[in-house]
Amino acid sequence: MTTTAQIQITRRDGKPALPDSAVSFEDKLVENGLQLRSVEVDILQVNVGKLCNQTCKHCHVDASPSRTEIIDRGTIEDCLQVLRDCSIPTLDITGGAPELIPDFRYFVAEARKTGANVIVRHNLTVMFEEGFEDLPAFFAENRVELVCSLPYFMQQQTDAQRGAGVFEKSVAALRRLNSAGYGNDKTSLILNLVYNPVGAFLPPDQSAIESDFKRELKRRYDIVFNNLYTITNMPIARYLDWLRRSGNEESYMSKLIDSFNPRAVEGLMCRNTLSVDWLGNLYDCDFNQMLEIPVNPALGQTIRDFSQRKFVDREIMTNSHCFGCTAGLGSSCGGSVAPD
Ligand code: SF4
Ligand code: SF4
Repeated sequence: MTTTAQIQITRRDGKPALPDSAVSFEDKLVENGLQLRSVEVDILQVNVGKLCNQTCKHCHVDASPSRTEIIDRGTIEDCLQVLRDCSIPTLDITGGAPELIPDFRYFVAEARKTGANVIVRHNLTVMFEEGFEDLPAFFAENRVELVCSLPYFMQQQTDAQRGAGVFEKSVAALRRLNSAGYGNDKTSLILNLVYNPVGAFLPPDQSAIESDFKRELKRRYDIVFNNLYTITNMPIARYLDWLRRSGNEESYMSKLIDSFNPRAVEGLMCRNTLSVDWLGNLYDCDFNQMLEIPVNPALGQTIRDFSQRKFVDREIMTNSHCFGCTAGLGSSCGGSVAPD
């Protein structure tokens, strides 16, 4: 077996951006007779900036109310042009809290005109910021698919990760979305929730915890939703800081490596998704974006250089954090990826 050294990346604060890993992700793929290459881009995932009304402990974006990085109209136009020219079926808008950027509503409305399905990663509490109370109506009018974070159906766990008072606001926001028709089979307005572990452990089986969420949210708060996605916490950014502070870095990394599941590789989101940052730079996924690992240097580096033909079958740029996507049942922005 070859041993490929993992390239260590240093953050702006001088600390290593990735945990130490005894095994390289690339070697693990080779050991299992696998390669990680993309198919055609089905999802353009645009991270419109790091501004957020929250400062969650596990945030891989390091987003907060004090961040100033946000996408401008020109870069939005470039993304819209790619949606039109390349017929990419899905635009996935993430952040930060994407709703806080001045051109958010323009971006959604124009993307819908291209025929794209639009997903917004919505943190629920932003709805209670001044001037954002009408978000449920806006989302419904544009038939936006929502993916909303709710780490647990109980207050203690949710507030511990996302901040005091977040659970109560999240419940109120979910009720408003239900009132606007979200999560209701008759309207087909999709409301998906995201669970991620509150601690240094892997998510449980997605369908089992989805049943628990559905039962408990209905029973306690009369809330309904469509699907629950389980997402593994990635050992980068704020979550890596927490792992280090709590003495869990080594054991968490070992857990990810020991739980490597070769069956997760085919469904990894980097295979059919292209990630764009607020400046228009391209990455294989949002995690690589935060680590500033761009797409293969042989390819165009910005959204203005994109073409389906050039980006299909591209080599994906990996490092030790990728073990977060292949552990257990696998993890992606759309939940677990490995077949049962
Ligand atoms: S996890 Fe989401 S809601 Fe929390 S700070 Fe990060 S971007 Fe904001
Ligand atoms: S971290 Fe990104 S590049 Fe690595 S396996 Fe996950 S989605 Fe793919």
